[in-house]
Amino acid sequence: IHAFLSVFEDEARHMADQSDERRTAGASRGPLEGIPIAIKDNMLVEGRPCTSASRMLEDYVAVEDASVIQKLKSAGAILIGKTNLDEFAMGGSTEFSAFGATSNPHDRSRVAGGSSGGSAAAVSAGMVPCALGSDTGGSIRQPASFCGIVGLKPTYGRVSRYGLLAMASSLDQIGPMTRNVDDSALLFSVISGQDPKDQTTEKVEPFTSISERGIDGLRIGLPVQSWGEGIDPAIREAVMGNVKELEARGAKIQEIDMPATDSALAVYYVLMPCEVSANMSRYDGMRYGLHVESNDLMARYLESRRQGLGDEVRRRILLGTFALSHGYFDAYYLKAKKVQAKIRKSMEEAFRDVDVLITPTTPSTAFAKGEKMHDPLAMYLQDIFTVGANVAGVPAISVPCGSHNGMPIGLQITGSWFEEAELLAVAKMCET
Ligand code: GLN
Repeated sequence: IHAFLSVFEDEARHMADQSDERRTAGASRGPLEGIPIAIKDNMLVEGRPCTSASRMLEDYVAVEDASVIQKLKSAGAILIGKTNLDEFAMGGSTEFSAFGATSNPHDRSRVAGGSSGGSAAAVSAGMVPCALGSDTGGSIRQPASFCGIVGLKPTYGRVSRYGLLAMASSLDQIGPMTRNVDDSALLFSVISGQDPKDQTTEKVEPFTSISERGIDGLRIGLPVQSWGEGIDPAIREAVMGNVKELEARGAKIQEIDMPATDSALAVYYVLMPCEVSANMSRYDGMRYGLHVESNDLMARYLESRRQGLGDEVRRRILLGTFALSHGYFDAYYLKAKKVQAKIRKSMEEAFRDVDVLITPTTPSTAFAKGEKMHDPLAMYLQDIFTVGANVAGVPAISVPCGSHNGMPIGLQITGSWFEEAELLAVAKMCET
């Protein structure tokens, strides 16, 4: 399946022995004592490679732990290894990994989704009970949906990004990928919370457990007008089947109109590359990773980037550099920021009338390997339902809700800012 880029064979056994000793001594560390976990290979684990699936960082070894890794270690978790992803998390199929694609455990001729495809496949295949992913525009939820597992993208500012290799800093969030909603809540309780090392983390009431709210009177919004023609009828049917079931058990279903969110994909594919182009400038052949020797400084920059970075990453750097350049900044970046404000406002308004929104997670089930690799627009359209949550900064979760021709279908629930306790409660109702 090629879910892992590196496996900590000795270290994991050593950590497991230590965990056993702690438990025998009655000195368990915390809620994840002895639990194996896989980490997407764009988060730093001290003394371990962190490649971000890029040639640029093929030989890079992390010098410290990401904040989430520190939290996992202090909760007793056992780190099993680092999972495959699209290079620097840019993609939706894990085919853009410089080290080869990950297969979908349900059908190995299909993609696992992406960019956290390795984490999703590892959980789905039963290699680990849980994993961490990162989500900038859907990278936790889409592969979770393709692989039939649960994937949560928390509210922006709820989980520290310190030690996560930045893709688009204003959109990136780390989140749990698990087999069920309870595990998602448990892992989220461990990794969330304010962190002095990431000033975008907010001081809010710590998350401890899923809210106990009942289904009676739960207000669910369906932004159906944006479920365009491109969506697979089997997915519409599975999602609506679930919604009907919730209604039969006491939820109030309401179609809502959110026209601003129809622009979320366009906004995302302007803002994201702008931030990507800025963040990727650090890989200049001088400071980190690959450096191609040359007496000419410019040649050294160019050759290192040419050899170190794949086509999709370079495409985004080019797009972002163009959109930020003099004369285009107002027309692209600033305009996208304005539409982003409208999208946030339309979410705020929606959450006055409803508790959560339900949509499909993806417009299709996992596609065949190679199918969209050479068609960037077709690949980007996969993100139509997921990018809105990142653009608005709200939390969203994908839960399995059926299957078609043996391939899992995911249902996405979106909640209001910092309302993960409620979001997870609704996810649990769907799961049940
Ligand atoms: N598929 C999206 C993209 O290609 C999302 C990536 C992500 O969330 N890291 O940008």
